[in-house]
Amino acid sequence: MPRILRDVAALREVVAGWKAAGEAVGVVPTMGALHDGHLSLVRAAKQDCARVIVTIFVNPKQFNNPDDLLKYPRTEAEDAALLAPLGVDVIFAPPPEEVYPEGFATMVSVAGISGPLEGAHRPGHFDGVATVVAKLFGMTQADCAYFGQKDWQQLQVVQRLAADLNLAVKVTGCETIREADGLAMSSRNARLSAEARAKAPALHAAMQRAAAGIRGGALVSTAMKAARAEVLAAGFDEVEYIELRSAAMLERVSTLKAPARMLAAAMIGGVRLIDNIAV
Ligand code: AMP
Repeated sequence: MPRILRDVAALREVVAGWKAAGEAVGVVPTMGALHDGHLSLVRAAKQDCARVIVTIFVNPKQFNNPDDLLKYPRTEAEDAALLAPLGVDVIFAPPPEEVYPEGFATMVSVAGISGPLEGAHRPGHFDGVATVVAKLFGMTQADCAYFGQKDWQQLQVVQRLAADLNLAVKVTGCETIREADGLAMSSRNARLSAEARAKAPALHAAMQRAAAGIRGGALVSTAMKAARAEVLAAGFDEVEYIELRSAAMLERVSTLKAPARMLAAAMIGGVRLIDNIAV
């Protein structure tokens, strides 16, 4: 079993030993309730780095909805069992007061890229993400960090953050891992009822159809309108956004030129799902 550490001092001591031995350190930040998507990041880290830390921290600062924070699945023992065979060295699972001790006063905010899409629908979310990621980079002193493309906008925010603050960490974005029916793996999928789970793949299916249409010359606005209608007709309760954006800067795209990304967020059965694909 990997060692489970809960305080920064103990983590620093372990990492200092690795660094003294010249070993590269990789970190995979997570909120736990691990699935194959997370494990793919761990495997990528293991390929590049002699030492791998998986952090498990349900970060209260990135939840704009208290109910979502409360209901977020917490499965540490199962998570540790999943990580053991992958050769993870340390699970860093601090309590909130270790990350945000009394007097904590600094927030990291990445302007521009944090604004639209998730940023518009979840006010303060990316400030919470940027703050905790900057802290996790500082705590772990990692040389390499692995994030999923599943959270495309988050990946762009983290890359901007690392570049802007000259953090000595190489950020790698790994492909989205999906269920056989196309649903992007997510810790929140566990909260879907059987009925909602059966309908959920419609989001990815509609996005793929729209992407194919756009690549084939369909008007972006028409394709996105059709995709929204298709998702609602499949049984989703609400589509918060489904849009085509430039891949890196996430600017609106009305005609397909350079690499673009289609991104969506939609509610089904009280669960908020997000997805994105390359177009
Ligand atoms: P989370 O625990 O949801 O905060 O996710 C931790 C990391 O795992 C983030 O970098 C996510 O983008 C990544 N991740 C979550 N789901 C997937 C997935 N289906 N495929 C690849 N990476 C994922």
